[in-house]
Amino acid sequence: MSEVSGNETGKDVRALLARVPAVERVLSSAAQPLIGEYGRTQVVDAIRMAADALRRELLAGASFDASFNFEAKLVDDAARSLAARARPHLRAVFNLTGTVLHTNLGRALLPDEAVRAVIEALTRPMNLEFDLATGSRGDRDDLIDDLICELTGAEAATVVNNNAAAVLLTLSALASKKEVVVSRGELVEIGGAFRIPDIMSRAGAKLREIGTTNRTHLKDYDEAINARTALLMKVHCSNYAIEGFTKSVPVDEVAQLAHARSLPMAVDLGSGTLVDLAQFGLPTEPTVRETVEAGADLVTFSGDKLLGGPQAGLIVGRAELIRKIKKHPLKRALRVGKLTLAALEPVLQLYRAPELLRERLTTLRLLTRPAADMQAQAARVQAVLQRALGDAYSVTAEPMMSQIGSGALPVDQLPSFGVVIHNAAGKRGGRALMKLEEALRALPRPVIGRIADDALRLDLRCLEAADEPAFVAQCAELRL
Ligand SMILES: *Cc1c(COP(=O)(O)O)cnc(C)c1O
Repeated sequence: MSEVSGNETGKDVRALLARVPAVERVLSSAAQPLIGEYGRTQVVDAIRMAADALRRELLAGASFDASFNFEAKLVDDAARSLAARARPHLRAVFNLTGTVLHTNLGRALLPDEAVRAVIEALTRPMNLEFDLATGSRGDRDDLIDDLICELTGAEAATVVNNNAAAVLLTLSALASKKEVVVSRGELVEIGGAFRIPDIMSRAGAKLREIGTTNRTHLKDYDEAINARTALLMKVHCSNYAIEGFTKSVPVDEVAQLAHARSLPMAVDLGSGTLVDLAQFGLPTEPTVRETVEAGADLVTFSGDKLLGGPQAGLIVGRAELIRKIKKHPLKRALRVGKLTLAALEPVLQLYRAPELLRERLTTLRLLTRPAADMQAQAARVQAVLQRALGDAYSVTAEPMMSQIGSGALPVDQLPSFGVVIHNAAGKRGGRALMKLEEALRALPRPVIGRIADDALRLDLRCLEAADEPAFVAQCAELRL
């Protein structure tokens, strides 16, 4: 190869630079389809940036032969950057973490009935606060409070943005500047900075702690009551369990004491299921109805945990207390939107047919997936992944344990199946596993698993049959 003098190289670069088409020319021809899709403003910027990048490439010594189509390159580059910019930041993923109600992955998945109702509410005017019988102004809670009462046995109900809001509103409305008695064993922190003591002070209520971390007795409640007491409260120990030498006072006994002293009693149930989960072979959780029947005057619980609906906080209980809660100014700030109500009603409707719930309610279907289903699926996915990953990794199908998640039943685990991926060389695979985890997250629909015991684990409980083909298809795109 002959030496090229600096001068000649300079001439080549100038010749190449001269071939970069003017932005205006690209806009009036090859970029027309992009303008139709993205609008002129964005396309002008994208073509300009692509042209600048190309010039920098040429100045850095890149060479292209005489037939190379610079105009097509600018349009391709612009199309790629526009598509990347337009991709939503909130995206669908595959939840193979083994945690069904995963707070960071959006908790409950909603059934088709709810999806259809949300689409309708998004695209059509609705009678959100309009009484169709009288033609006058209505109350959005009226749309579903009868149904909530039917399913829980409560006198009245209201709905707010989430359960944290439900607790905040309840305490603000009933216990501002007064004392609330809570056992030290129930002063929990739920992930994401929801701490009962903090909520209490935000609501302007004074926390009166009683008992010890592991043991609280009825007389502890009794002795704490004074003229400033507004409420006795119990909180479900969602995400942890105290075992061993423990004692807590059941709801009915606390409620009886409260009523004997003319006080209301509230329970923050957290997950709050509407049906007895034991009938589905799941660990038992107290239902909302049981809690109401045990004498709780108010019960708060989430819409998107075991209930299987949209993010919401439900408050049920005695009519006069719910009335007071609904009149509080915070209710307006914490109220739910029409999309939430649209999604919640059909989910609640499903509970009227308990025999069909296991099939129709997505959360329950996932929690009760037959082991044989997941085992057969694990064998299929094992083969696909082993092929995609090659010799560097060894993939095996194995039994594993899923979790319900969102603080529901933290101790009990569900037998499940999945694939376990080891670094094939048998070396400790820290870096290789992290690279694999990253590659799975870089797929068009990111796959989220978990690393434990020197292996990457993909629990298949939440990969339903309808989603399997999409999962399998994109495995071929894994880049390691
Ligand atoms: C989850 C939970 C909350 C918070 O509910 P969100 O709906 O996430 O706001 C409050 N209390 C308990 C006991 C919980 O388990």
